[in-house]
Amino acid sequence: MKEIYLDNNATTKVDDRVFEEMRPYFCELYGNPSSMHFFGGQVQKKVDEARGRVAALLGAMPDEIVFTACGTESDNAAIRSALEVFPEKRHVITSRVEHPAVLTQCRNLTKRGYRVTELNVDGDGQLDLKELAAAVDDDTAIVSLMYANNETGVVFPIEEAARIVKEKGALFHTDAVQAVGKIPLNMAQSGIDMLSLSGHKLHAPKGVGVLYVRRGTPFRPMLVGGHQERGRRAGTENTASIIAMGKACEVAQLHMDEESGRVRELRDRLQRELTALIPNTRINGGGTQRLPNTLSIAMEFVEGEGILLLLSEKGICASSGSACTSGSLEPSHVLRAMGVPFTCAHGSIRFSLSRFTTDAEIDAVIKELPPIISRLREMSPFGREFLAKK
Ligand code: PLP
Repeated sequence: MKEIYLDNNATTKVDDRVFEEMRPYFCELYGNPSSMHFFGGQVQKKVDEARGRVAALLGAMPDEIVFTACGTESDNAAIRSALEVFPEKRHVITSRVEHPAVLTQCRNLTKRGYRVTELNVDGDGQLDLKELAAAVDDDTAIVSLMYANNETGVVFPIEEAARIVKEKGALFHTDAVQAVGKIPLNMAQSGIDMLSLSGHKLHAPKGVGVLYVRRGTPFRPMLVGGHQERGRRAGTENTASIIAMGKACEVAQLHMDEESGRVRELRDRLQRELTALIPNTRINGGGTQRLPNTLSIAMEFVEGEGILLLLSEKGICASSGSACTSGSLEPSHVLRAMGVPFTCAHGSIRFSLSRFTTDAEIDAVIKELPPIISRLREMSPFGREFLAKK
């Protein structure tokens, strides 16, 4: 069965152009970029080129780009650095809907005596900037807010948030893992101090990430040892993946406008048709700014896991809004923070599209999902009650 892959916020296919670019750096050009000889030097040149390509996509300078192993590492490194830079400051601000790469770290900090403020979101998953402004004080070391949410695609007003935070003298970090390559970013005109991205969300391989660190931002490395990455991240570079990351950023930059327009049209068509064909649905984050590729749709009186299994039988890959913790199917922390009613949160499905998504794949979901929902509603007691009232 050929897969219909609509789970691109989880991970993406490596683009053929990206794969071809990295291929020689395993068995032929395997030198260490730190070596003095020509064989390492030619790899160093390609790593520099990759750094330039990442910088170009972000509107940044090449020396502001630090290669890491993943988005999680970049998030951890940014927050830890701020706490080391300002040992006297004991307050951190984040939001309730962050990815665990930020949220778990912040919650762990409370056990070490830090004060952590988790900002609320409204019913659309949007931030209240007044709440942010009121929360920052002289004790705040860093504010870490995501650019775009992985579950709903909701885009936060990050530039305004950065301005508020900078005026009050704290550092500002954003987890832009889901935003980079999907919407334009320009660090040259921004107040962001640090920004995280991850290769496998933009058609590069798993195991490579980037932390952007603005020139002049005080920084303490998480990994110490060699002098790689100008002393900001020790460890021999993952050269093939770094070169792939550079290519992925170049491809994203060249085609972003055209691709995001096409993807948005596909996503909007999927949303329109599903809401017309399936009664009692709501779009999580539908009333605010969203990434062009993400659709989180809540369907009342059904369970996400059941929907995913039946979709999977048809070859359709999506994901649900529940996290299976200790045997109970709890709705995700994101949907709970948004106050999505329990009966909806349980039946929330995320479709996330990419440059490789086709019209025919969207047609297939529009054909397969409505009968799956009717079938599941007939099987569940709540669903039967709901159908009887109709
Ligand atoms: N931040 C966000 C918003 C994400 O969606 C993810 C991955 O799903 C991460 C961070 C973690 O990135 P990585 O898988 O590269 O560690």
